[in-house]
Amino acid sequence: MNGAPRSDPGPGRKLRQLADLPVSVLRGVGAAAEKELAELGVETVLDLLTHYPRRYIDGTRLVPIADLVPGDRASVVATVTRVSRPTSGYGRGRRRPPSRVVIQIADASGRLDVVFFNQAWRAKQLPVGSLALFYGTIGEYRGSLQLNSPTAEVLRAAGDGDGDDDDDGAGGSGRVYPVYPLTDKANLTSARIGRYTAEALDRAGRFADPVPVATRTHVGLLDRTSAFNQIHRPATDDDHEPARRRLAFDELFRLQLALVLRQSRLQQDARGLRHLVARDDGAPTLADRFLAGLPFTPTGAQQRAIDAIRHDLAGPLPMHRLLQGDVGSGKTVVAVAAMLTAVDGGHQAALMAPTEVLAEQHAAAVRELVDGLRVPDAATLEGDRPLTVGLLTNKTGAADRAVLHAGLSEGSVDLLIGTHALLTDQVGFRSLGVVVIDEQHRFGVEQRAALRAKGRGSDGTGHDPDLLVMTATPIPRTAAMVVFGDLDMTVIDELPAGRLPVTTAWLRTPLETGEAWSRVRDEVAGGHRAFVVCPLVEGSERIEAASAVSEFERLAAGELSDLSVGLLHGQLPSAEKERVMAQFRSGALDVLVATTVIEVGVDVPEATVMVIEDADRFGIAQLHQLRGRVGRGGDPSWCYLLSDNDSPEAVARLSALERTTDGFELADVDLELRGEGTILGARQKGRSDLKLARLLSDRDLVVRARTLAVEVVGGDPVLVDHPLLVEELRIFVDDDEAEFLFKS
Ligand code: ADP
Ligand code: MG
Repeated sequence: MNGAPRSDPGPGRKLRQLADLPVSVLRGVGAAAEKELAELGVETVLDLLTHYPRRYIDGTRLVPIADLVPGDRASVVATVTRVSRPTSGYGRGRRRPPSRVVIQIADASGRLDVVFFNQAWRAKQLPVGSLALFYGTIGEYRGSLQLNSPTAEVLRAAGDGDGDDDDDGAGGSGRVYPVYPLTDKANLTSARIGRYTAEALDRAGRFADPVPVATRTHVGLLDRTSAFNQIHRPATDDDHEPARRRLAFDELFRLQLALVLRQSRLQQDARGLRHLVARDDGAPTLADRFLAGLPFTPTGAQQRAIDAIRHDLAGPLPMHRLLQGDVGSGKTVVAVAAMLTAVDGGHQAALMAPTEVLAEQHAAAVRELVDGLRVPDAATLEGDRPLTVGLLTNKTGAADRAVLHAGLSEGSVDLLIGTHALLTDQVGFRSLGVVVIDEQHRFGVEQRAALRAKGRGSDGTGHDPDLLVMTATPIPRTAAMVVFGDLDMTVIDELPAGRLPVTTAWLRTPLETGEAWSRVRDEVAGGHRAFVVCPLVEGSERIEAASAVSEFERLAAGELSDLSVGLLHGQLPSAEKERVMAQFRSGALDVLVATTVIEVGVDVPEATVMVIEDADRFGIAQLHQLRGRVGRGGDPSWCYLLSDNDSPEAVARLSALERTTDGFELADVDLELRGEGTILGARQKGRSDLKLARLLSDRDLVVRARTLAVEVVGGDPVLVDHPLLVEELRIFVDDDEAEFLFKS
């Protein structure tokens, strides 16, 4: 077969076909190369074509040898014309002189010597005839220019120059050279990968393109054939970015398609409940009465979230909704309204939180919020009874547990709040109508599913409860589309009125730190309270607790000796934890020295100062969470970040916290600093395909891909009219997922 693109006007080359061809079908790839490619994870022609360059060297912007000036740091692309390994004669003294490799390189404008010391292997790497990129400082030796021990990257191995290459080996001739990811072990060069890729592209010819022309035009995307060609062999430095965008779109589109299909699949299999969200006679529902009884009016954003949830609850399909809101935006009230809707119809609701402290606090807060509410109960004389809220954690005693289990299965417990303990087998509901999962990032998908499955009951005859998932800290909207793309999303983008932003200061020296302690004393004198968060200690919870104890002792005897100081860490017995929290809430303690057990959710409105020691050890999201523990009561509040670390990462993080209190903005900064890896770390099946897409810079593509996926699945729920898409998805999602998505 020759290099010319096929003239076949058929539907074009499918990725499936390429995925079925081993790289050994390529003329250039023999047994040795096949092994080397396998080390890069490249086994099929599709693997090869999706082994994308990690960068490009623009041969048109290089400095010709004749224009080099001593002292410049320069990039030169040139051909090796001579290699010598001069013996340095007899070294003086006993030490052998360093070995040298001197190679001469040439481009169209001139010649230059390159010297490598103690790198004998360079002679092998750069034989005569190879074309390479050299980067280093230009020096002078005996009147002529010389490049000493530069970095060198082979662009084309000796003897590779024939064929359809338009340049003759002289550097700077106007080509753009792709540089591929390589392993150290393999003998491969970017040049060889480029050759294999070129052969594959030539023989593949035109690619079938599943993205409709209308979308391509609208979004400004290349056709797939041009994209694969331009990403591997761009003619100019302007060609590869449009190609990357197009192929990144393909990745995102496949991902969104899988997510949207998953969502629609879940709905097809669902046995949902239609909850009663309004009464025919116009009488207020339980949720209405709850909202009307609050000491504040819900914000517009809370109201919108409640409306969206009501709409879901009223419908026949179970809700799958993610509720995003910044720290303190009031997600709990929204969740309680949803849970009460279930209770109103004679069902139950469960709220699962990641820690004991948080679960206990939720239980206390919810009990207070629903205090006085009554639910219908025909078995009583009054015809109703008080709403009951149960709390279940690992430390709930056996006797209490038994009572709770009985109450849940007979239906006398309306709301159940707890930790992972909710997932145990003994927990069975009479009729579970709504499930809320707080601080979702701490739970896996399986745990989400396990709690939902409680709705069907042990005999499987029940129904699928409506699910509301809440995040503690916002993640960027587009990232959420990727990670939680199988959920509908509601954002609470407004804080309750009257909240003052927490004044945040990064204190770097012991002198500056004095400001934090004097603020703590002032605020306590004014009737307020303060948190001090101890340094994060890697290792075990025990070690961390020990360090918290000594920090507590130091502060109680030193800076805070005139105040009443308490200690809270994960190793304390539960009863002790509860006692300390109660004392802090009541004001018996002025200051709480704590580990990050207080990170999530802790709600003490009188707390106005947060001091975080060794703040550079915490991530942005964690710092924002901790800061969210103050400023909840409408009084001016302060957060002090103590750290003398001035590394660029620490500066970037801590100054971002100083600059803004907007969780969504911080989420963007976090994504920028840490890359998508951490967010996608939580990724699930079918999401391993993102090689080119960037969540931050390709936001527009994420949204477009989502839109197209929704459109396609909306018009063709099981993709019967889109066989090419089905085929491609089957390549990229794993077998279990494909089975689920495409079973009939
Ligand atoms: P988060 O979204 O961080 O979970 P919470 O639900 O814990 O926030 O609410 C934070 C605090 O704000 C609580 O004390 C809650 O009672 C209060 N709150 C919630 N909504 C409002 C509102 N609309 N107006 C005033 N205070 C509110
Ligand atoms: Mg919360």
